[in-house]
Amino acid sequence: MSNKTDVLIVGAGPVGMLTALALAQTGASVRVLEKEDDIINSPRAAVYFPSTLVILEELGLLEELLEIGFTNRTFGTHIPEFGYHSVVVSEPIDGVDYDYQLHAGQDDVARVAMKHARALGVEVLFGHEVHGFEEYDDHIAVMTRTGGSEQLYQADWLIGADGARSTVRKLAGIEFEGHTWPERFVATNVKFDFSKLGYCQANFVCDPVNMAVIAQLDRDGLWRCTYMEDSSLPEDSYVERIHQRYEYFMAGSKDYQIVSANPYTLHQRAGETLHKGRILLAGDAAHATNPCGGLGLTSGVWTGIILADVLGAVIRGEEDATILDRYSDERRRIFWDIVTPAATENKRMLQEQDMDQRLKDMAAIKALNDDPDSGAMLMLFAFKVIGDVLREGSRWADADPTPRVALDLAGRKGQIH
Ligand SMILES: Cc1cc2nc3c(=O)[nH]c(=O)nc-3n(C[C@H](O)[C@H](O)[C@H](O)COP(=O)(O)OP(=O)(O)OC[C@H]3O[C@@H](n4cnc5c(N)ncnc54)[C@H](O)[C@@H]3O)c2cc1C
Repeated sequence: MSNKTDVLIVGAGPVGMLTALALAQTGASVRVLEKEDDIINSPRAAVYFPSTLVILEELGLLEELLEIGFTNRTFGTHIPEFGYHSVVVSEPIDGVDYDYQLHAGQDDVARVAMKHARALGVEVLFGHEVHGFEEYDDHIAVMTRTGGSEQLYQADWLIGADGARSTVRKLAGIEFEGHTWPERFVATNVKFDFSKLGYCQANFVCDPVNMAVIAQLDRDGLWRCTYMEDSSLPEDSYVERIHQRYEYFMAGSKDYQIVSANPYTLHQRAGETLHKGRILLAGDAAHATNPCGGLGLTSGVWTGIILADVLGAVIRGEEDATILDRYSDERRRIFWDIVTPAATENKRMLQEQDMDQRLKDMAAIKALNDDPDSGAMLMLFAFKVIGDVLREGSRWADADPTPRVALDLAGRKGQIH
């Protein structure tokens, strides 16, 4: 492969790899630079809504991922203090091909996308940490640290898909607007059969102290239990507190085996722009949300996919580069108007302290539990992250089935997402 490509992507996470594959499918030449030695396997995204399944199917990945992961149609909400448990089941929806959730690790998604991208000529270079770039009139030159040596790669366009702490965003001088939440999330992967305690395959546990998101990860008994702790507690001793926190979620059972755990800082932030000169941002580098309700990657993959579509058209000379500003505006709108209110409301409900409000929340959850449309609403809500696909003839023009579905979602948004 020549030293110069149409596009350089920084980050071989799920967004970087899906964007690389989608761009390669448009005929663009793409190189991916990743600082780690392999795709990262930290406990993060595990549940994919139908809006993501549309992408996986269109890019040709869904079948393989269905073999690796499993499908789920149930969602439980538990309020242990009130002894309340709700289960919403998503029934098949007329006019919607994907009306279930896929459970799989985000490393699986990135790995399968990488395999397909490489088959189309995408070069993925591990152990390449990007630490600088120079922008010129007709190209951008990117510097990487590779073991003891320095490398230089050139491209017409540079995409930062290098996560919430994005080096590309910082080097470009793009402010990450918004706020960081005071709490810390601790995500644990654990071998334990939560189903024997009445949990569904995906669950919210609402409690002012012991809120959690619990989901099954694979068919071999691996589950994710993510809970919150105050970030004033020392981060380096979070592991020592896991056993005590498990007491609550596992009702005192001791027959569990912790497989991995990680503390996370939570953000509600987006780049002040996602396009500056030859630089573009996608995924968490572009916008990072608290993960309550699983909207982080759900929105991030669509940011990457829309970018691949419009940038591919710019590279082919079918669109003017001004479409990249519209990309920036639209993806920021989706983040601030759709993702942030929903994720913020989910987080509030999960950890609500006020007793009156908790009772109101329980009444709203009960109403959903009794509504036969609520499973469909839950699945359809995620399609709102698609937004405007920005150009006529886009391969994603019909991706959002909501207009075809005879369900009025208006007015119900905000109860549960
Ligand atoms: C506990 C938890 C649970 C979550 N659950 C869900 C969920 O169920 N559903 C959902 O939709 N979202 C979920 N999310 C959010 C989701 O994990 C993120 O949105 C997702 O990881 C973003 O993917 P990305 O590819 O943009 O960034 P990342 O996955 O962060 O990947 C960035 C990559 O860039 C590389 N990189 C960084 N800097 C450099 C550099 N200078 N040079 C080269 N490479 C670099 C990194 O090594 C990394 O491989 C969750 C998040 C957390 C914390």
